[in-house]
Amino acid sequence: MRLISTLVFILTISITLQAQKEHLAPCGTHSFRSEWLKRFQAQPDRVDTRSADILYVPITMHFVGTDEGTGLFTETALTRALCTLNDDFKDTDIQFYIAGEIRQIWKSVYADHATTLKGGEMMFEYNVPGTLNNYVVDNPAGNCGYNLPYAGIALSDNCMGANDHTWSHEIGHALSLPHPFLGWEGGVSHDGSVSHNFENPAPTTVLYDYTFFKDTLILDTMIIDTAIVELVDGSNCDIAADGFCDTKPDYLASRWPCDEATLLSYQEQTDPTGAKFFSDASLIMSYALDNCASRFTDDQSEAMRANLIDEKPDLLLDQSHPGDLSQMVTSINFPFDEQVVYYQNIEFGWDEIDNAANYLFQLNLGQNGTFVLYDTIVNASTLTLPELDINKNYYARVKALGKTDFCADWSGDVKIKTSETSSVDNQDFNSIFTIAPTLLVQGQHIVLSSELSQEVKIQVVDINGRLLNPQINKVDGDIKIATNNMAPGVYVIQALLQDRAVSTKVVITD
Ligand SMILES: [Zn+2]
Repeated sequence: MRLISTLVFILTISITLQAQKEHLAPCGTHSFRSEWLKRFQAQPDRVDTRSADILYVPITMHFVGTDEGTGLFTETALTRALCTLNDDFKDTDIQFYIAGEIRQIWKSVYADHATTLKGGEMMFEYNVPGTLNNYVVDNPAGNCGYNLPYAGIALSDNCMGANDHTWSHEIGHALSLPHPFLGWEGGVSHDGSVSHNFENPAPTTVLYDYTFFKDTLILDTMIIDTAIVELVDGSNCDIAADGFCDTKPDYLASRWPCDEATLLSYQEQTDPTGAKFFSDASLIMSYALDNCASRFTDDQSEAMRANLIDEKPDLLLDQSHPGDLSQMVTSINFPFDEQVVYYQNIEFGWDEIDNAANYLFQLNLGQNGTFVLYDTIVNASTLTLPELDINKNYYARVKALGKTDFCADWSGDVKIKTSETSSVDNQDFNSIFTIAPTLLVQGQHIVLSSELSQEVKIQVVDINGRLLNPQINKVDGDIKIATNNMAPGVYVIQALLQDRAVSTKVVITD
């Protein structure tokens, strides 16, 4: 289990994030058709893409914050983004899992970097070989994300929401996919200097610049190439733009709104023959807004699989998978809801779920994940928080994470109240229950009597807050608690009533 030494306040204000996102370009990758992709598209049968198998791909996560220790991406947000990522890739039968620990980098020059070259420097410094390296920063050179083919992926934390597809888009690039509008990134010319009216026929070729985005870093040459403009009739689809025939013509190289009903662009375009068309907004590799983008085509999927198998076999060394989560929701066993807990060394424990690789734990100031105070991914079913504020209410919840399944539901909230003294108020307890004996030897029964006729939940908790026995639910009559398994020591008997919880202490002696 991970040891937690500090509590970090995480307040996510989504409105601010949305505003910041609009200032970022959708993608900074100057995509091109690599030699590998050209070879594959010319001869797709060259690679057995093992299309019946799911390919499991390890990713390393690097969270990059400032020198002052702020601005780090959160593990809750990561889990949400991974759920979307693996959902986007479901039909490709490629799934991603986190290899190793999440890495933290505290460097402002990387958290907010002005150029992709600076990002490349970061990646060369921190990359973990044999994995796909992803760096979540605040500002990746003014973009939502980019992929450097020879290094890794940089992503803005502003573009990693549950409904964002930036990450899937950049991994698409990393696995060889260009934009469907390849060639139009700089307009008709490579640098945006020639304007084009989409009502007029497009030229037969456009120029594009992919300096810094070759397979290796080349610093001394500007690389400008010619792309053939794709025709509506499909006659040049295998050599024009991205070279995929199941991605239709698209000339839109800045973020564009889409019609959710037709999944097409509002912008009509004209191919070099004069044929009119709208762009396909469902493609993750397009620049359509995230509300329309949802898929990779069959040819794109085959290319990504072939790219992994043929060019990146080091990413496929571990294909083990434990299976799906046996249950989509777990529950917190201790502390119990409404429990008053001592403010230090508070131990939380929850039901283990079969095939869970990890659990995401959250401590919040509000219900249902509002005002997240602290979150962490742990690989055990318990977690101890060293210290919380005194006399405060907190809400804890947890969710199971599979190796590749990050979409499980949260447990219900458990509300705790911290106290400086102890969780025990004998007077309150004794006004409802008669308990005997309170000093006993191991093996003796504890007997609780009450006049109450409502359902009562009874739990026994040791001095560390750990739940000992299964909960006893009782409507009326005496409650007997066996002590055979209770070593000598102090225990707290907790009774959860409909409106509040009360507790008292018992001592077991030798
Ligand atoms: Zn892109």
